Amino acid sequence: MAEETIFSKIIRREIPAEILYQDDLVTAFKDISPRAPQHVLIVPNILIPTLNDVKAADEPALGRMVTVAAKLAKEAGIDEDGYRLIINCNQHGGQEVFHIHMHLLGGKPLGPMLAV
Ligand code: 5GP
Repeated sequence: MAEETIFSKIIRREIPAEILYQDDLVTAFKDISPRAPQHVLIVPNILIPTLNDVKAADEPALGRMVTVAAKLAKEAGIDEDGYRLIINCNQHGGQEVFHIHMHLLGGKPLGPMLAV
């Protein structure tokens, strides 16, 4: 059984976060340490530690993460200029919180995809 992270507490509203969207499958909230003018995390409500743990049954939640990202980008007015969605996996991917989350980043030109 995977260990819960702080994100489960945010989803259950046990600790504060700036929640922008929540439904039966996903929750979206502002990143506590934004790397861009718009930096939102979109997470499945159930604990899936990494992309390696995704099962076919998780596809509705993962699909919802994408549609919610697009909706929030539109609401933030960054859809036409553009934005970036990132899911980090494990050490080489730079994952720090082991509850899958999609970063929605935008509000300025984000530069090259990877620092080299
Ligand atoms: P990762 O490196 O795992 O892809 O990203 C984890 C993200 O979670 C980081 O951008 C970090 O700032 C954010 N984060 C970590 N703890 C908290 C928290 O307690 N609240 C919020 N809103 N974001 C958090």
